[in-house]
Amino acid sequence: MPNDSTRLGPRSAELRRRAAARTPGGVHSNVRLTGAQEFIERAKGAWLYSVDGRDYVDYLLGQGPNFLGHAPDHVVDAVSDACRRGVIFGGQHELEVQASELVCRAVGWADMIRFGVSGTEVVQGALRLARAATGRTKVIRFEGHYHGWLDNVLTAARDGHWGVATKGQVARHLDDFIVLPWNDAEQVADALDRHGEQVAAVIMEPVMINAGVIEPLPGYLEAVRRLCDRHGVVLIFDEVISGFRLGLGGGAERYGVPPDLATYGKAIAGGFPVAALVGRAELMSRFGTGEVNHSGTFNGSVMATAAVAATVTSLLEDPPYERVAKHGRTLMVGLRDLGIEHGLPLRVEGLPAAFHVSFGDAEVRDYRTLQRLDLARYERLSRVLVEHGLWVTGRGVWYVSACHGEEELDAALTRFEKALRDGA
Ligand code: PLP
Repeated sequence: MPNDSTRLGPRSAELRRRAAARTPGGVHSNVRLTGAQEFIERAKGAWLYSVDGRDYVDYLLGQGPNFLGHAPDHVVDAVSDACRRGVIFGGQHELEVQASELVCRAVGWADMIRFGVSGTEVVQGALRLARAATGRTKVIRFEGHYHGWLDNVLTAARDGHWGVATKGQVARHLDDFIVLPWNDAEQVADALDRHGEQVAAVIMEPVMINAGVIEPLPGYLEAVRRLCDRHGVVLIFDEVISGFRLGLGGGAERYGVPPDLATYGKAIAGGFPVAALVGRAELMSRFGTGEVNHSGTFNGSVMATAAVAATVTSLLEDPPYERVAKHGRTLMVGLRDLGIEHGLPLRVEGLPAAFHVSFGDAEVRDYRTLQRLDLARYERLSRVLVEHGLWVTGRGVWYVSACHGEEELDAALTRFEKALRDGA
């Protein structure tokens, strides 16, 4: 049933009032302060159903984790079966071993793994390990790449300068970071020529999905890999979004460039809260000697490892990547065609498994050039899209799942067209 109402449903409005009284902003993550405010009752496959009886085709997928669709039966069953035998032991169990073996096999280049709960914390593990291994402290990172919400990685641009992003953040925690424009290997070469002796790591999303879903230019990742090798710097790929979404081996496999360490999260566990740090044995084994600390009460829990094992097993046995890419490609073309039909400068670019929708026609290769697009116009449209039954956010990134098929394609294009007529 299409959603024609532009108002919050009565039950959502009531829950929103109650939420706001007990929870700052009514949400438990600031990322959701600006998102859709409808309350969800249940979700299955590629669909969300609100407490007011509205349905939504979901292209947000919980910010990425629901790559297999919502509540995949085999993952939910595996988790509930496993948890009946205990939830957390404070000791080791067989599922940890299975999940570790499966992830390393799927990723391909990685020898060892440590599980965590969120992408933010495994990024911290990667940075600590790189610093321990090199005895250096500085880290090269890139404009527009997101690596979590902690003081030493959260940044925002103000007047062309990258600094603290929030009140309460300690500015000096960013002192060790050198922030460069992405997709320009000469900038990395220059920075390493100047500071190479002090640089422990280069960290990046191998595809900048967080800002514009921008792919690396041909040769860029290879050039950064060579520069890291030359200067003895650890290359970290933050695959929290791209991991298991672009293929079993994430961005590293897609572009044929293995990093030394990589962080995973989101799609690794069928929607359950799990993250992982994977890497070469020579680096990762430092955790095992106790030389480098990595801890966490909930790391490798029964729930987490059962979810990872079930998710990765199904991805290995029945890889959905071609199907996902086909849906994404057809949808991208369909959205572009609607833009043309309506005489709008709609821009739909990126990978089929994750793509970016905005207005404008600039050549985009990094965060700076992305700002030439009319991102605010899409943000306004995104609210109308939600009102018409498309679950998306204002940031313009659309995610495709293994559950998106013909029905979802038709619904998405019909609803998008109606939203364009009503609100673009
Ligand atoms: N790294 C990347 C590339 C991300 O996109 C995110 C979250 O969106 C994170 C790290 C942080 O992960 P989490 O939100 O699980 O802490």
